[in-house]
Amino acid sequence: MSLLVVGTVAFDAIETPFGKTDKIVGGAASYIGLAASYFHRDIHLVSVVGDDFPQDFMNTLKAQGVNLTGLQIKKGEKSFFWSGKYHNDLNSRDTLETQLNVLEHFNPIVPESAKNVDFLMLGNLVPAVQRQVITQLTKRPKLIVLDTMNFWMDIAMEELLKTIAMIDVLTINDSEARQLSGEYSLVKAAQKILKMGPKVLVIKKGEHGALLFNKDEVFFAPALPLEEVYDPTGAGDSFAGGFIGYLAKTKDISFENMKRAIIFGSAMASFTVEKFGTERLIGLSAEDVDNRVQEFVDLVQFDISLI
Ligand code: AMP
Repeated sequence: MSLLVVGTVAFDAIETPFGKTDKIVGGAASYIGLAASYFHRDIHLVSVVGDDFPQDFMNTLKAQGVNLTGLQIKKGEKSFFWSGKYHNDLNSRDTLETQLNVLEHFNPIVPESAKNVDFLMLGNLVPAVQRQVITQLTKRPKLIVLDTMNFWMDIAMEELLKTIAMIDVLTINDSEARQLSGEYSLVKAAQKILKMGPKVLVIKKGEHGALLFNKDEVFFAPALPLEEVYDPTGAGDSFAGGFIGYLAKTKDISFENMKRAIIFGSAMASFTVEKFGTERLIGLSAEDVDNRVQEFVDLVQFDISLI
């Protein structure tokens, strides 16, 4: 079943307590596409870059089975650029700079071959553009997942709320859930957000795992305690990619299957943070992924008998 991924394909400059990078390849759709490709190969990507973007990385995406027909390359323009600095605990960061560049006048065009996809992953992007993608599709996908961030809540809240009203699953982090709902308690925040449109909400809590809510239930996935965490950039996107990639592979969008999907998503995020940028998500084997998922299973499995 086809999966359409939308989001930024970008340059990032990152500073963490362990080092600093110059411009490296990043972007929400880059991480999502790579992470999802370990579960599902029928992936279309819609995004935009300038002619400064490296062909090598596009070849890597193609080699992972990501179809780039919907990736516009704008002559004489610059790719989206983001830079951020992480605090010492690596759980929070400050955005130092966001240059929209090609994103400023981006008009997404969904290729004919991707107009009837069953799974749509709207990665972090201008909320109105995310909505433009939904309206170009010839049929409503089985599942629409949306990821966003505080940046859009700050400058385009109204547009974001319109987009959120059209989706099935929203993935945001804990501070964004508080900002969106105006509630400190994440349980209350979830109740409010689930009234805005989505039937399911994922709240990502960095090294403290992720919560999955629907109207009646809540489920928790831990984050793996890792020896080396270098760069959390893209962890949320890799999580989203693993989540929707697994759902597209298994074709099952029940809440029970979403519980499994957030474990697969957490496993992909755990790879991403081990190196700077997208490096760790390239060239993993099926065995690497299986072993990592098994580590999650072992981490939380326990026997309790209450009799
Ligand atoms: P994450 O760490 O999962 O939140 O995602 C980080 C990625 O999001 C980086 O690779 C950035 O290029 C991209 N990004 C940062 N700010 C934005 C934004 N305002 N809109 C879209 N993508 C962004």
